[in-house]
Amino acid sequence: MPHDSPNANTNWPLVIGILGGGQLALMLARSASQLGMRVHVLDPSPTCPAKGAAAEHTLGSWSDPEALLAFAQKVDVITVENEFVEADKLAALERQGHTVLPSSETMRLVQDKLVQKQMLGRFGIPVVDFMPVADEDELQTAVSTFGFPFVLKKRTLGYDGTGNFTVSEPADLQAGVNKLGGFAAGLYAEKWCPFTMELAVIVTRNTTGTTAIYPVVESRQHNHVCSSVLVPAAITPEQANAAYKMAVGAVEAVNGVGSFGIELFMLEDGTLRLNEMAPRVHNSGHYTLEACDCSQFENHLRAVCGLPLGSVALRSGAAMVNILAEKSGKGSPVGLADAMAVPGACLHFYGKLRAEPRRKMGHVTALGETPLAALATAELAAGHIRFED
Ligand code: ATP
Ligand code: MG
Ligand code: MG
Repeated sequence: MPHDSPNANTNWPLVIGILGGGQLALMLARSASQLGMRVHVLDPSPTCPAKGAAAEHTLGSWSDPEALLAFAQKVDVITVENEFVEADKLAALERQGHTVLPSSETMRLVQDKLVQKQMLGRFGIPVVDFMPVADEDELQTAVSTFGFPFVLKKRTLGYDGTGNFTVSEPADLQAGVNKLGGFAAGLYAEKWCPFTMELAVIVTRNTTGTTAIYPVVESRQHNHVCSSVLVPAAITPEQANAAYKMAVGAVEAVNGVGSFGIELFMLEDGTLRLNEMAPRVHNSGHYTLEACDCSQFENHLRAVCGLPLGSVALRSGAAMVNILAEKSGKGSPVGLADAMAVPGACLHFYGKLRAEPRRKMGHVTALGETPLAALATAELAAGHIRFED
């Protein structure tokens, strides 16, 4: 089913409303200003990262229906930088005639990981074995079916591993349930996946169903948080094709519009399982700003505005390293001069005023003859950065 989208010829400058004002909205806003579009963000924090780059910032919560409606009335199209805005609230905006992309229906299928996995299964897209865990009995069923270790996950609102708990032995069970907020928070269990590599693909799909598929990247995680991305991934052309097919299939399954991040596990035999899909621009696609003709951010804007998609051609091997804070403190980086002295390192900081353990404060991208050469450059620069206590 085609989606409505704003008409770039009659509404200019187009006003893109982004629900959420974090680093993803910040990078979208920068791309929008290059295209002569205006970005308006809705975020409850007066110091949200996107504030400086957006044309306008409305202080407010995306979970407040009145704030959402007032915001919607001021923009041409509403999009999201996270998967947490409730689908029902987006559907209410659509019923009032507002354009929401990705649509409320897409968000409904993706934002609950259990619903997402069930949906992917219906479309024949392989995922790791999973089961709902609504109470103690179902938890015991998960133990007897999967054995140890397995992963207990929150169905909604998880990111950077915050909604995950690896259960290694019976003694972990209670701690896991408690850490994730109890059964009432909405939990499910996943079999432990002994992957040999994690991959990711950004797919941008526009309102006519045309897709732009970025190269497959290797995504390396540390403690369930992405630490670095290498592009292209060191896999065979057959494996890359399988990854593309799976990623596009997932986005088509939810009739998605915009840029989507698709995370995959590769097993020892080279086969793939889809880990999760994000209905938004994605950390594994930050490298596209420097390494591709048209970034995931620009293509997202093009897609939600009904404009043609740009080329995803990769200009060179590349790598991206996340800059994560280690502890709580000020957001001001130390070691900036040394990081800036690394030739070829492209530094990005999100302007966050507070550092918290594992919080993403910025990233470094580098190009190189090989992804590993690029990684060395990016790691060298990122390694100089600390945050003030
Ligand atoms: P994101 O920040 O990407 O949204 P998230 O918090 O939604 O992450 P997941 O993507 O579910 O969490 O998991 C984070 C990481 O934890 C994965 O990239 C992988 O390294 C590890 N992981 C998740 N599920 C499993 C599993 N079933 N078996 C083994 N490792 C897993
Ligand atoms: Mg996730
Ligand atoms: Mg993930």
